[in-house]
Amino acid sequence: MKGIDDAKKIIVAIDGYSSSGKSTMARELAKRVGYVYVDSGAMYRAVTLYAIRHDMVTPEKKVKTEELIAALPDIHISFQAAGADGIQHTLLNGEDVEKFIRDMEVSNMVSPVAVIPEVRQRLTALQQEFGIHKGIIMDGRDIGTTVFPDAELKVFVCASPEERARRRYKELLEKGEDVEYDEVYKNVVERDRIDTTREVSPLRKASDAIELDNGDMTPSEQMDWLLEKFQEQVG
Ligand code: C5P
Repeated sequence: MKGIDDAKKIIVAIDGYSSSGKSTMARELAKRVGYVYVDSGAMYRAVTLYAIRHDMVTPEKKVKTEELIAALPDIHISFQAAGADGIQHTLLNGEDVEKFIRDMEVSNMVSPVAVIPEVRQRLTALQQEFGIHKGIIMDGRDIGTTVFPDAELKVFVCASPEERARRRYKELLEKGEDVEYDEVYKNVVERDRIDTTREVSPLRKASDAIELDNGDMTPSEQMDWLLEKFQEQVG
């Protein structure tokens, strides 16, 4: 039987375009309301890192799909609770790969990997397991449409590609990566293209999602907006 605390917990699905600030919002909301945060993009990135490391990407940047599908049972993804840096780390077969999965090499291959139906099937099942007890905030591309179609609160985040590339470029520079703005911009646009046109679970706004264009909003304005929507749902 459900306890009172269970009944109050909801699932929050935050979807949107690349580098739209979804993760920052989702992570901060989870911290404020004491929910679990899951970055589903990190899971696709970890599978991509595995493929790169195991020679499953050709020099022409094509994914060796059959080999990757065959290796899926050997790929285990989990998360380590936030440490001193306040960030939850992604583990690939037990190894902390957080610092590798955000670099450009992975960013350039992740959308082609995320197109593969078998990869999506496996990660979707894992994501659904994380949400079994509710009290979870997950961000990604298909959370409100496929992973948790019954989520109580769905947000769809967007901003112009220029603004999103600018944010991502700044983030990468701060991390010490040697990148050009143009390269980041192209990656953002290309990922949007692949993510919105793939056959299985393409990126799109769920019919019951609330749209947030955060192009002109500060992080604290976004947080106030999200907290208000959250409070409306949990009463
Ligand atoms: O969120 P992030 O930008 O880190 O996601 C990386 C990539 O993973 C996306 O561009 C997309 O191709 C894929 N992805 C996905 N479905 C999700 C989350 C991410 O296809 N739910």
